[in-house]
Amino acid sequence: MNTIGRNCVAYCDRCPARARVRAALPAGELHFCNHHIREHRDRLQEAGAKLVTLPGSPAPIAARPVPRDLAA
Ligand SMILES: [Zn+2]
Repeated sequence: MNTIGRNCVAYCDRCPARARVRAALPAGELHFCNHHIREHRDRLQEAGAKLVTLPGSPAPIAARPVPRDLAA
């Protein structure tokens, strides 16, 4: 696991995109882009992850409700 400082650019753990959200889990941290946080947010929150929108992100996607018609 790599530790990334506050001012460093983080990348999604699932794809090469810039990370928009950091998920802090008891086992460690994961980073997700907008696309992948939408996909995994429910499961991460069920697992007790603390979701933090990274500085410089254009939109706090972790705090916004997912339109269900887009999630299908
Ligand atoms: Zn991604």
